[in-house]
Amino acid sequence: MNALAATNRNFRHAARILGLDSKLEKSLLIPFREIKVECTIPKDDGTLVSYIGFRVQHDNSRGPMKGGIRYHPEVDPDEVNALAQLMTWKTAVADIPYGGAKGGIGCNPRDLSVSELERLTRVFTQKIHDLIGIHTDVPAPDMGTNAQTMAWILDEYSKFHGHSPAVVTGKPIDLGGSLGREAATGRGVVYATEALLAEHGKSISDLTFAIQGFGNVGSWAAKLIQERGGKVVAVSDITGAIKNKNGIDIGELVKHKNETGSLKNFQGADAIDADELLVHDCDVLIPCALGGVLNRENAAHVKAKFIIEAANHPTDPEADEILSKKGVVILPDIYANAGGVTVSYFEWVQNIQGFMWDEEKVNKELQRYMEKAFHNIKTMCKTHDCNLRMGAFTLGVNRVARATLLRGWEA
Ligand code: GLU
Repeated sequence: MNALAATNRNFRHAARILGLDSKLEKSLLIPFREIKVECTIPKDDGTLVSYIGFRVQHDNSRGPMKGGIRYHPEVDPDEVNALAQLMTWKTAVADIPYGGAKGGIGCNPRDLSVSELERLTRVFTQKIHDLIGIHTDVPAPDMGTNAQTMAWILDEYSKFHGHSPAVVTGKPIDLGGSLGREAATGRGVVYATEALLAEHGKSISDLTFAIQGFGNVGSWAAKLIQERGGKVVAVSDITGAIKNKNGIDIGELVKHKNETGSLKNFQGADAIDADELLVHDCDVLIPCALGGVLNRENAAHVKAKFIIEAANHPTDPEADEILSKKGVVILPDIYANAGGVTVSYFEWVQNIQGFMWDEEKVNKELQRYMEKAFHNIKTMCKTHDCNLRMGAFTLGVNRVARATLLRGWEA
């Protein structure tokens, strides 16, 4: 099942639980606007190359649309649609005053030089600048993009609209980025994990962790788990997978990856097969990479008792069913990885106020938002006698439905 079919299915299930009117259900599902643009740039050698850029603006009933821009070869319209919809429910679960959007360019950023990436980002921005804005749609980094990408978008957008730092979040600190934004998704994952484990009478320091993905989210989550006494026993990324049952030294691993660009040949661990990671012996599995990695082929073999969805839609519906029958507790993406967009909101607030917070305040507020959201999800689980995924979906969908009804449809 592709990402869009899976996301729609979860939404419909939540709509049924909430007893939503079918017309409202239909209106919530259809995206507000879908943008598809041609992005042609000269490569460094002078030859022309064309890419397709997407921005799907899913819903704005609760505030400006919000979500990342992804550069990845697998970016396609259905996936961007699914991710935009997930952002709508995610911002509602986090209770921040935004709607949802997502963008992407189907390209492999590893094959492009820095100047090619800059040209591509500027061309994409030229094509969509009239449709984004501080109070309409605010992009941020996602897979394959980073603070530098946001700096180029900000610069290009500002040529048309004047200096507008709040038009993107996840910017470099020097351009109005927020302290703590870089670590925010990983930190949010850890706060969410702590909230879940506390419910089960456990803490991070009692448990072993396997982490798939060692980019921004996975490496920060691993570092903060180690800081709290948790044992990270397996890590993987596209360059390889490693294990050490006594715990991998994450500080050393970050250093090794920065120096060599790879997890391969790390002295403090043994190599394993990449597919092995998801079924590795551990208490907590944290997928931090692509969607759909847990499916009917591997779900039955998962050994973890808890899965924290740091990636967007890592578990397909078939795997969801198999895992819940096995008694595995899954903390859903629209809550578990909401730390990034929550600190994006703090960044936007700071830009609009023209007042910068210190990092301690950012982290404290993030923790407060994550704990409150967990508590709200649990309340929905009790009210509707459902699992955490449906608890989060019903919470998010209900808030968006209420806002939509309050605004009305009068033309
Ligand atoms: N790309 C991140 C996400 O999927 C962050 C989005 C944002 O900060 O707007 O949640």
